[in-house]
Amino acid sequence: MDISYWISSTPKTNYPILEKDMEAEVCIIGGGLVSAVTAYLLTKSGKEVIILEREQVGMGVTGNSTAKLTSQHGLFYQYLNNEFGFDFAKKYLDSNQEATSLAKKIIEEEQIDCDFEIQDSYVFTTSKQEAEKIAQEVSIVKKLGLNAEYLTKIPLPLKNILASIRFPDQAQLHIRKYLLSLFEIVNKRGGKIFEHTKVLDAERNLDGFTVYTKNHKINAKKVIMATHYPIINFPGFYFLKMYQGKK
Ligand SMILES: Cc1cc2nc3c(=O)[nH]c(=O)nc-3n(C[C@H](O)[C@H](O)[C@H](O)COP(=O)(O)OP(=O)(O)OC[C@H]3O[C@@H](n4cnc5c(N)ncnc54)[C@H](O)[C@@H]3O)c2cc1C
Repeated sequence: MDISYWISSTPKTNYPILEKDMEAEVCIIGGGLVSAVTAYLLTKSGKEVIILEREQVGMGVTGNSTAKLTSQHGLFYQYLNNEFGFDFAKKYLDSNQEATSLAKKIIEEEQIDCDFEIQDSYVFTTSKQEAEKIAQEVSIVKKLGLNAEYLTKIPLPLKNILASIRFPDQAQLHIRKYLLSLFEIVNKRGGKIFEHTKVLDAERNLDGFTVYTKNHKINAKKVIMATHYPIINFPGFYFLKMYQGKK
């Protein structure tokens, strides 16, 4: 099986297995990017954090992702504006832009060496029909406040491009270098990271929550499920809402 570049070009982690019952202000289930950034921010504000990862950190979806930080997800803003309204589409765009700015800020403040680069991002087409959709997308994205551009040529070695939308100032990075550095910082700040420690269940109690692994439990005031897909059915019953989609 092919191994992602992010995984093959970084060292393996060796965090311990959970071997006793423990307590924390916050227990984060899962050790991907959502966990790493959340744990970074929580420990920065002085919270006691325990992270439980069933395998090894950064080997899930994050370690196998494209590692781009963009607000551009296909042609999405025309759809968001039509289906959910202008304000909703603007919130989506602004929160995506803020997420990239946050990553940039953390990387600069912590001097994380993770090949972070600001780059333009493009969606392009070779079809006349889609070119019209791209023109409409450029128009709505500009109204939402981002300086998108309609181009007929892009700086990529591709033939027959008819139209493209450019989002300026997006980013790319080595996602595992970033994630591993964040967990190292969390660890240095006293955050506890456990690998090969699968969470089987969690329940609410009078003081917060109890999180159960095979042999131990964590009592925590708050629990954050950062498992990509929810592993526990409360709150929200998301398993009922999940389905495979075709784009
Ligand atoms: C092919 C692909 C490419 C993508 N590319 C991008 C991209 O370029 N840019 C972008 O922003 N997003 C991208 N995404 C979206 C991506 O999913 C998120 O950006 C992000 O990496 C998800 O991080 P996560 O922490 O939620 O999940 P993960 O990285 O999957 O982390 C979840 C962790 O939880 C652990 N876990 C699961 N169950 C348990 C349990 N019971 N107990 C303990 N631990 C458990 C898993 O082992 C895993 O390590 C891509 C997605 C896919 C599928």
